Amino acid sequence: MERVLISGGSRGIGAALVRAFATKGHRVAFLYRANTAAAEAVAAETGAIPIQCDISNPVAVHMAVAKATETLDGAPTVLINNAGVSHIGLSRDMTDDEWRRVCDTNLSGAFYLCREAQGAMIAAQYGRIVNIGSMWGKIGASCEVAYSATKAGLRGLTTALAKELGPSGITVNCVEPGLIETEMNRTLDAETKAALIEETPACRIGTPEDVAEAVLFFSDRKASFITGQILGVDGGFAI
Ligand code: NDP
Repeated sequence: MERVLISGGSRGIGAALVRAFATKGHRVAFLYRANTAAAEAVAAETGAIPIQCDISNPVAVHMAVAKATETLDGAPTVLINNAGVSHIGLSRDMTDDEWRRVCDTNLSGAFYLCREAQGAMIAAQYGRIVNIGSMWGKIGASCEVAYSATKAGLRGLTTALAKELGPSGITVNCVEPGLIETEMNRTLDAETKAALIEETPACRIGTPEDVAEAVLFFSDRKASFITGQILGVDGGFAI
């Protein structure tokens, strides 16, 4: 049984990850930013422990990992960096605050969590870290420059950390979803969705459960010889 810490577990892909790990009998704690009602609903359904934490704040992350360690009866053996935010708009119109919000959450937040969680993993000579990137980090999305840049940054974080932590028995991998049916895409109109599906070899939008399966694979003890890998879960969109 693993002790699993998932960021952004209150909704969407993160909630599916909480369900997937809890169903397998693992102890799960998850972070969320503000949506307490959604977090409590996921917690009630799965038995997982909700912890409010804005991952763009390094002090809050330090305290949240300490709380997770206490409530899980030990430090996390699996860390899933899932929380993320998007921003759609022309790059020339983007304010400094909008740029920072995306970078501080998607990239810095993942870094802070990796930094906090790795000490106990190194001491135990075991750990699994999975970062949730995006196919836009591979191929870039027009009008999502900051988002694409942070997700490309997660590719570098993944490969560099895999090399740094490999000797300590810790694997670091990245899952890059394509278009997945969650609230993040609530602003996409039907026409845009249809156009994206048209370009997807699998001819459909993905589900949070599609992503969860790939994350479970990387998080398994048996996946000990797989590290620094980036796996697209995008129905073939980005090939
Ligand atoms: P949602 O918008 O549905 O959920 C986002 C989750 O992240 C929520 O739990 C939210 O908490 C949490 N969160 C956001 N900001 C912070 C923060 N500063 N601190 C802590 N938690 C935070 O997103 P998805 O489920 O769609 O996306 C999950 C991940 O998958 C993201 O990294 C996203 O970039 C990536 N992804 C998604 C795709 C998609 O099509 N949906 C495609 C490719 C990648 P709260 O509920 O409190 O707001």
